Amino acid sequence: MESNSLSTQFQALSRAAGDEVYPSLAVRRDRLTRLEAMLRDKEGLLCDAMNQDYGHRSKRQSAFADITTTLKSINHARRHLRFWMAKTPRQVDMSLRLTGARSYSEYVPKGVVGVISPWNFPVNLTFSPVVSAFAAGNRVFIKPSEVTPATAELIQAACSEYFQPDEVAVACGGVEVAKQFVELPFDHLIYTGGEVIAKSIMAAAANNLVPLTLELGGKSPVMIADDADLSQAAKKVAFGKIFNAGQICIAPDYVMLNPAQLEPFVSALEAALQHMASAHDSDGVDVVNDRHRQRIDFLVDEARQAGADVRTVQCGAYRADIVINPDADMAICSQEIFGPVVVVRTCNSVTEQLAEVAARPHPLVAYYFGRSSAGFEHVARQIRCGALVKNDIIFQYANDDFPFGGVGASGMGKYRGIDGFQEFSNLRPVFKSGAIDTSSLVTPPYPRLFEAV
Ligand code: NAD
Repeated sequence: MESNSLSTQFQALSRAAGDEVYPSLAVRRDRLTRLEAMLRDKEGLLCDAMNQDYGHRSKRQSAFADITTTLKSINHARRHLRFWMAKTPRQVDMSLRLTGARSYSEYVPKGVVGVISPWNFPVNLTFSPVVSAFAAGNRVFIKPSEVTPATAELIQAACSEYFQPDEVAVACGGVEVAKQFVELPFDHLIYTGGEVIAKSIMAAAANNLVPLTLELGGKSPVMIADDADLSQAAKKVAFGKIFNAGQICIAPDYVMLNPAQLEPFVSALEAALQHMASAHDSDGVDVVNDRHRQRIDFLVDEARQAGADVRTVQCGAYRADIVINPDADMAICSQEIFGPVVVVRTCNSVTEQLAEVAARPHPLVAYYFGRSSAGFEHVARQIRCGALVKNDIIFQYANDDFPFGGVGASGMGKYRGIDGFQEFSNLRPVFKSGAIDTSSLVTPPYPRLFEAV
């Protein structure tokens, strides 16, 4: 795609955003409703496209992970939007003779929001940011991932059917298009993807002082306390490696437990993986392409060759590996796995587990399994992470009011629910002068109240 065509599309969006600075509640709800209609009408085609892009991605997983979750977010936004848009009264400082003045703050749209989305949930991670951006009253320019091209093209065609080109535009294409896209002077840009590209996006955004939300990844730990229910933890970790074949930014990456828990946990994990993988042909997902399969295989093979114990669960085309106690300097201990592999490491105490987490960049999520509240609260006060989850895995995302985002290397900014509405808005304070004339204050000699107190 030519860069001038990108800038033509952008200018149409930008002009329209300038003509309609503050879309009404009804206009915003209408956009959300059209988005809902689009996803409902195109659900079958979108699931087929995701299946085509992945080679194998079951309709049920695609429908749940990409369509239902997005529809839920749309409904949540539509239901709460009136309250989110309400003005908030602010206290006026009377000591400066501002009696009678009024002050409030309100969230106003930023204008045009750019959305760069990844391949792992190519519909949900494209449209979840759009839900927040629409709720906040913005126009949207989308750049879907080239790794899932059939889905990207369908998204482009569907958006042009349900939206005007100055409401939503979609730019398909590879890295060259992406590089031109990030040069546009957006009013806000949200990127979901890997850390390396995020750095180049941040540099490009700096040229136009574009505010950024970065939704990145990293190694999300699972901390298993001495009093944890191991069988529950194993089932939930297995789910995180079966669902979308573990290609999830909030997937559990490595598990830490005490040495006595190792064998019972690994046996329970193998059994859970075996059981869940038996449905792979009818209800599973493959690794997205050969490049990613090779990347994952390299991580496992390197650890195996260096002496790590590797247990493999194979069920039809699905393969998951459990890598036990790889050396800390192996790539599998520093790179995000993003696939059907679980690293299990033994630690002698919670303090040691916390030190492992602290030695790596701040994760997107930290998962904690344990019964005691005191144990959890202790960890909560010691750990830096985007989100913290007790006795569950991934299901925090089902909560539409849960702010989503990382900290440090796992990202910046939060979206979804009210936090997404606020992220893509400008919080504008408004001041209305009162009955008392303040002009006597602005002419020298200034009154005593100007003196330091
Ligand atoms: P990807 O390869 O699909 O890239 C993401 C997007 O970046 C694509 O739209 C692509 O076109 C664009 N892109 C590529 N090169 C670019 C460039 N030079 N400039 C601008 N844009 C460019 O996805 P990926 O990076 O393989 O995604 C996997 C990563 O994403 C993992 O690290 C994962 O943890 C992270 N992720 C994070 C979240 C989250 O919400 N925090 C969600 C999903 C994935």
